[in-house]
Amino acid sequence: MSGRVVAQDVVAKESVPPFANTAVDGFAVRAQDVDKPGVELEVLGVIGAGHVAAYQIGAGQSARIMTGASMPRGADAVVMIEDATVLSATRVRCNKPAKVGDAVREVGEDVRAGDVVFKAGEVINSAGIGVLAGINARKVSSYPRLRVAMLSTGDELVIDGSTLRPGQIRESNLTMLASMIEDTGCEIINLGIVDDDEERLEVALREVATRCDAIVTSGGVGQGDFDIVKIVLSRIAEMHWMQMAIKPAKPFAFGKLKTSDSRVVPIFGLPGNPVSSMISFELLARPALRKMMGHTVDLRRPTVRAIVDAPMKRKQDGKVHFMRVFGRFGEDGRLHVRDTGPQGSHQLAATAQANGLAFVPDGQGLAAGAEVEVMLLG
Ligand code: AMP
Ligand code: MG
Repeated sequence: MSGRVVAQDVVAKESVPPFANTAVDGFAVRAQDVDKPGVELEVLGVIGAGHVAAYQIGAGQSARIMTGASMPRGADAVVMIEDATVLSATRVRCNKPAKVGDAVREVGEDVRAGDVVFKAGEVINSAGIGVLAGINARKVSSYPRLRVAMLSTGDELVIDGSTLRPGQIRESNLTMLASMIEDTGCEIINLGIVDDDEERLEVALREVATRCDAIVTSGGVGQGDFDIVKIVLSRIAEMHWMQMAIKPAKPFAFGKLKTSDSRVVPIFGLPGNPVSSMISFELLARPALRKMMGHTVDLRRPTVRAIVDAPMKRKQDGKVHFMRVFGRFGEDGRLHVRDTGPQGSHQLAATAQANGLAFVPDGQGLAAGAEVEVMLLG
């Protein structure tokens, strides 16, 4: 439930707290009796959390009471144990005066019955789940988790742990993307690596489209690439094959596949280079998936202006470079960043060390001390 977007206003049917209770361990008193230090009171009994006193507190009387216990009738303040001297089991001295309401948590101080605790469109976080439990809202209408199908292409890829033959590499994108898709709050249908048979791929795509909300593919979206995913998708879906002025993640594809039951399933065609795959998912697919799950704000992760601690060199090429950086807040209260190592689109190891993406504009790069916009990844 955490991270889900509420689809209908949630109105509290119960108040929290549901009864007036004490915020501290101490003595429930009538404030009017304890108008000066040193007042002595009779102690009628002990009230633990979850119990209700049968008696009423009258003039000159009190009750020992534990945090969370219901205030006894007649009492309107609590003197904390630290401000009291226990004289005997039935007598206490209050060392400080009390005011009405001292250490008392009133009914509905947190949530009042009738309050709208979540408006449609708001996101439920972990504390929100606690709030829902606290008001006994057992069923809440929310946007569903998307089911995202994913597949990878490439004759060179080995996914099953077997020994690499010459020319082969380990598949890494699906594992990485599965984690990113899950972090986005979606469920995964993992089709694995598709082999290069057009007809089988078409059948697989059409079939999975009937039971998913979006499709993510990895690889084969570059220019002049005769990957079968490109061939098949060009034929069966309405696709846009793009070259974007960013690095990494220059090639990208977006399209729509119509299902047999006339739904339209969006397709995100990510490039195969692992860093490109990661960045294009982060910048392009993730915001779209979030929007589909009802998010209206914060579709992208937050960005902050940061200080460049070591020069970030790049070549002028007409593109914005997204450099993987590690950032830490300095004593000046500013985020300071430096790149995490080799920035090639195949060099995922340096990306694994990063907690931010620096948007380095076209040019020769940034000198130490310059400012740069950084998207916070974690
Ligand atoms: P492509 O986008 O298919 O042209 O692939 C670009 C580069 O990424 C090539 O060097 C591929 O070997 C590599 N690559 C493609 N898909 C994957 C994958 N799933 N895991 C790891 N590397 C990949
Ligand atoms: Mg390929």
